[in-house]
Amino acid sequence: MLFAPDTEVALRSVVNLINTAANGEESLTTPADLNAFLDAEEFTGSRSGSAAELRSIKRLRIELAALWSSDEDTAAKSVNKLLTDAKALPQLVKHDHWDWHLHATTPEAPLADRMGTEAAMAIIDVIRSKEMDRMRVCAADDCDAVVLDLSRNRSKLYCDTGNCANRAHVAAYRARKAAEAD
Ligand SMILES: [Zn+2]
Ligand SMILES: [Zn+2]
Repeated sequence: MLFAPDTEVALRSVVNLINTAANGEESLTTPADLNAFLDAEEFTGSRSGSAAELRSIKRLRIELAALWSSDEDTAAKSVNKLLTDAKALPQLVKHDHWDWHLHATTPEAPLADRMGTEAAMAIIDVIRSKEMDRMRVCAADDCDAVVLDLSRNRSKLYCDTGNCANRAHVAAYRARKAAEAD
């Protein structure tokens, strides 16, 4: 494991959030979409389910996407801004099935503040470990999804949105079906 368990969980969530808008396909269209996303990410704390909340998460997504591809100094500034804006105060907590991990906001704080803080706290570890080259964009020419490379040999090039990893399989499947249809 490269980073603390909660850091890796949070970084994966950042990737998944940014990739909800990858390749021009918006998958957070309604508050219900956001709700499903948060359930899938096991994100705890309060949610309003409002359109305003959804808009705030989309603004955060743009901020995080820019941060993901920025240089170290810019990323550090963005992280500090996220923490300042949310008035973050780190505390060790234990809840549900999670062992000791950091929360830096209360469960009642606005969702965008909590998600932004969780992302910032995780990216702090990446920056101070000099590991920002693990925050990448998918190597496929026609894909702008982001990739988190946690592999030992830094070998992960393609995203997990399904398209790139599965493209070869899909092509093979279609070719087989076409052959069967003849
Ligand atoms: Zn927690
Ligand atoms: Zn991709």
